[in-house]
This record gives sequence, C-alpha cells and structure tokens, in this order.
Amino acid sequence: MSAADLLFVNAAQVVTCAGAARARRGSEMRDAGIRRGAAVAVHAGVVLAVDAQEGLEHRYPDAARVDCAGGVLTPGLVDSHTHAIFGRARYEEQELRATGVPYMEIARRGGGIHASVRDLRSRGDDELVELARRRLVRMASYGTTTVEVKSGYGLTVADELRMLRVIARLERELPLRLIPTWLGAHEIPVEFRATPAAREAYIAMLIDDMLPIIARDGLARFADVFCEPGVFTLDETRRILMAARAAGLALKLHADELESSGAAQLAAELGATSADHLAAISEPGIRALALSDTVATLLPGTMLFLGKGRQAPARALLDAGAAIALASDFNPGTSPTVNLPLILTLGVSELHLSVAECVLAATVNGAAALGLAQRVGQIAPGFAADLALFDIEDVRELPYWYGDRRCMGSWVSGKPCHPYDLPVS
Ligand SMILES: [Zn+2]
Repeated sequence: MSAADLLFVNAAQVVTCAGAARARRGSEMRDAGIRRGAAVAVHAGVVLAVDAQEGLEHRYPDAARVDCAGGVLTPGLVDSHTHAIFGRARYEEQELRATGVPYMEIARRGGGIHASVRDLRSRGDDELVELARRRLVRMASYGTTTVEVKSGYGLTVADELRMLRVIARLERELPLRLIPTWLGAHEIPVEFRATPAAREAYIAMLIDDMLPIIARDGLARFADVFCEPGVFTLDETRRILMAARAAGLALKLHADELESSGAAQLAAELGATSADHLAAISEPGIRALALSDTVATLLPGTMLFLGKGRQAPARALLDAGAAIALASDFNPGTSPTVNLPLILTLGVSELHLSVAECVLAATVNGAAALGLAQRVGQIAPGFAADLALFDIEDVRELPYWYGDRRCMGSWVSGKPCHPYDLPVS
C-alpha cells in the first residue's frame, strides 16, 4: 500500500460528500457526509483515506501536513456552467434593465449578447487569455476547482475555434480543471438574421463547418444549444445536438429559462448530460428529467441578477426524483459573479434547498453534470484530491455569510490553486 505524501489535518469538519460515484437524486441529496475529527490522506494527487486524524498521523508520519486551522474542508467546488471567456463587462445594462428599458432597446443601443460578440471578435487571443485568467483565479479564491467554460461569443468558425483554443491554453496554464463546451449555437449572429435562408445557413455552418473541426481537434467535451423561443427552436436544437452527438460530443442544453418550450424533455430524450436554467420548466419537463440521467442544473444567480422575482422549481424537481446541480452561469450580461458559495446562499434562500442539498449540488452533481462523477466531487478514496478549505466552523456557515470570501485555500489533485501566485483582487 502506498504511503500518503500529504495529510490535511485539524479541520473542524470534513464534508466528504462520499457515496455513489454518480449524480445523487431526490432524497439521496439529504446527507453530505460530515465528519468531525477526521483527516484526509493524499497520495500522488488522489485521496488515499479519510479517517480519524490520530490514526492517519500515526500511519503516515512522513507526510507533509496541511493545517486546516479549525476550518471546514469540502470537495473543491464544481462550477458546471460558465461563459468565462469574454471581453468587456456590460455593467450599463443592469441599470437600464432596472429602470424598465426592454432588452430589445438595450440591444438597439449596442448592448446584449451581440455586444459581447462584436467585442470578442475585436480582441486578440492573448488579451482574452489574460482577462479570463484573472476571472478564473478569482473563482478558485472562492473554492471552485473545476470550471466548465463555454464558447459562444465568437459565432464564426474562426472565432469559435479561437475561444475553444483560449480555454485549452488556460487549462494548460492554470491549476484548475477546465472543461470546454462548444456553444456555437448561443445565438444567431447579426449577419445571419436577415432571412430564414440566412438563419438556415448559420445552422448549416455550425453542423458542417465548425463541428467537424471541433470534433477532430478534440476542442470541446460538450456541445450546448440555447434552446429558447426567439433563439434556437426545438427542431433546430435537436438537429444541432444530434449532429454533435454523432461527432462524439456529450450534450448540454440551455433549456426553459424564460419560457417553457419542451427543451427539458428534449434534453432527456437525447440523453443530454445536463439541462440548464429551467426557471420555466413545465410539469412534463420535470417528470422527463426525473426519469432520465440528465442533471437539472439550476442557475439562481441569473434570475436574481435579472430581477425576475422567480426561480426554478428546485424542490419540485427533487421531490420528483431528479438530480440537481447548482452553477454560477458566470457571464457578462446576466450573471457576473465568480462566487459559487453565493450561489449556495441562493440555493438555500431562493430555491429552498437544504445546505446538504446545495453542497452536493455544487460538488458531486456538478461533477456529474460534466461527466466527471467517477473521480471528482467527493473526498473519498480513489477520488482526485480536489479540495476547498473555508474559514468557518460549520458547513452551514458556507451559505450563511453570504457574499463573503471565506475560502482559505483550494487544491486540484493536491496542488494549490488558491492562494495562487497571481494576486487575487
Ligand atoms: Zn449560460
């Protein structure tokens, strides 16, 4: 048996989230596996044992010790839905929205997603890498160790490929786990909106020109489509995702965010890994997800920031037996937060979830929403030593001190990603 090279000691609680290596659903989300007096032994970046501290210290006297200083150790948080590659912020829109200016008018004044598309196309790769690097380092400073990152502000073959290569570069350069998703179907770009034939030409370009290169070069693990009335229809979404599946990509959908269109049922039908947003999901949609292996990924920060005054029916999804994940939806238009613990606060206060449900939704089930549940999201033997340490005594404080940064350290495969060697500010 190999010896531990690293021992995490003196944690008030170790929240293991240990259990089945798959998405937890319904009542399985009630227990996050809290242990007191436990230490975590790590060998070569993998958890070797979680056991009484005295015993592990005795067994592994030569291991380097990380003193958790009475804090709470959790699995590194998994943010399974972000749009972290973008250029400029869009702070003007928040105030315009608040004063009642409709989205179409904001778009006419040069805002909205098309503003982010124009802006991204005008920037060089190095600039995009540097902007995103600072944001990802901030995410790690809040305890996030795995981040899904989508393309979708390029919307040309060259710019979408560029975005995915920027993600690949960041994945090589940063200690975080980054999972790339191709979202060429984020929106129909301005230059393809004049006629139905032009729209069709964009979809053909996605399927015939972009997808083959992305699949050939292994640039994305997932394909995602913004399936919403006024964006991509159900039929268009089905065509794009079926082509992506045939090309070997796993699937995600932006589904039923503002209007129910049957997108959740489509996600279940296509065997999508996750269906995301779901604030307007229908009863049949809830039933379809509950009967499927598709994770329902909820993004309460978005609805809060947009001032919608409503949220996805998280309890109804859980009661029906669905698996839910929580993510930030970090993006410049509708959810500019890098703070995943804040999303747990919204999970409790807005979605009426328990703390255990929120923690599992941002660890095990976030990992499941990225196809990583076999090796990420738990502090258990055989799992990657992805950890987050918080300056709290009880895990219930994690959503409680809302907006605060209590994370003292985070690790991926036992290697620190926060504090990191770049200033976090
Ligand atoms: Zn999104």
